[in-house]
Amino acid sequence: MLALTYARSIPAFAVVKAAGGRADVATSALSMLKLGDVPEPQLPARDWVRVMPSLSGICGSDLAAISGHVSLYLDPLTSYPFIPGHEVVGVLDDGARVVIEPALGCLVRGVDPPCPRCAEGRPGLCYNVTEGPIEVGLQTGYCADTGGGWGETLVAHPSQVHPVPDSLTDEAAVLIEPFACCVHAALRGGATKDDMVVVAGAGTIGLLTVAAVKLFTPPKRLIAIAKHPTQRDLARKLGADQVVAPADVFQRVRFATAARRLEGMNRPLLLGGSDVTFECVGRADSLNDAVRFTREGGTVVVVGMPGEQKVDWAPIWQRELTVTGAYAYGTEPKRKGRKTFELALEAAPEMHLDELTGPLFGLGEYRDAIAYAMSAGRLGAVKVAFDLRRLRA
Ligand SMILES: [Zn+2]
Ligand SMILES: [Zn+2]
Repeated sequence: MLALTYARSIPAFAVVKAAGGRADVATSALSMLKLGDVPEPQLPARDWVRVMPSLSGICGSDLAAISGHVSLYLDPLTSYPFIPGHEVVGVLDDGARVVIEPALGCLVRGVDPPCPRCAEGRPGLCYNVTEGPIEVGLQTGYCADTGGGWGETLVAHPSQVHPVPDSLTDEAAVLIEPFACCVHAALRGGATKDDMVVVAGAGTIGLLTVAAVKLFTPPKRLIAIAKHPTQRDLARKLGADQVVAPADVFQRVRFATAARRLEGMNRPLLLGGSDVTFECVGRADSLNDAVRFTREGGTVVVVGMPGEQKVDWAPIWQRELTVTGAYAYGTEPKRKGRKTFELALEAAPEMHLDELTGPLFGLGEYRDAIAYAMSAGRLGAVKVAFDLRRLRA
């Protein structure tokens, strides 16, 4: 079958990193990514199913891996070579449309009894990601044995497969996985109706976090930070009360919360500030701002995948901030233990998610697709995806 494959290669990683992760080098013959014919993934156990991806999104985490910016923390949690792609809408052998829940926890791996975190309904935090009939990997799309969305076929445990309602197009359904991450993040942030919330970043994760916070934990006021015109429009459409440029955030949060602003030698800080901040960029500038405009005793939820970034811990210490990660999905204690994916699938039909998807590329156009995705915000795009439906036509 045709697939894009990511191989672990220290020389290739060095070449790509030396070029600053530039798209042309990161997709060149010297890179980790190759397009070619590979064997179909085998069903690891009798109950597993085959899924033919229809659309597969390009995630920021995929771009980080391809461009050599990825945190090396994740390397031992990944098996190689793998077929990327964890934002997947596809079809089963019988033609049923499904989305894939990528986390590879105890249930998927056939580990019984499950580890304590899986038993709590948090398969993203599984201790047993090395166990069972498949290789190490946190998710489909980072595991050598499951295949991934950027290939013609992947294999999935039945618990990973969710039916897609007819009311959702493929273009909307391909966003269910990132939206589920954001629903999980919103519920972890736990904003109340009296809170002032800031969502920093307006790529896929930032925009879907705006929507998730608005739907699941509606606050008194939600300010989104967005750079590009399309992002600003979409943030407003998805529920932001106000959209501000990164350079204006201290001023706007100050007005919205009656905080006081002090100028520092490197950057300002607020006395007071937002109650809950969702950081959806994952880079030092944005993280350092977030811990300085979130109020004393407030919460910063790290949603966008960060890497090794230089962050000043003094504000976290002095303001007694709660900094919490929000990774993946599972079941939600604040929603009667319901699955995050079900919550996302229920909310999605009202959201016009398909407006966020495109352009679409064939696997053969992967160099253009990756380059486009790396500049999506500037080019007015949100979710760039591969269209594999043409391969079956
Ligand atoms: Zn992702
Ligand atoms: Zn587990």
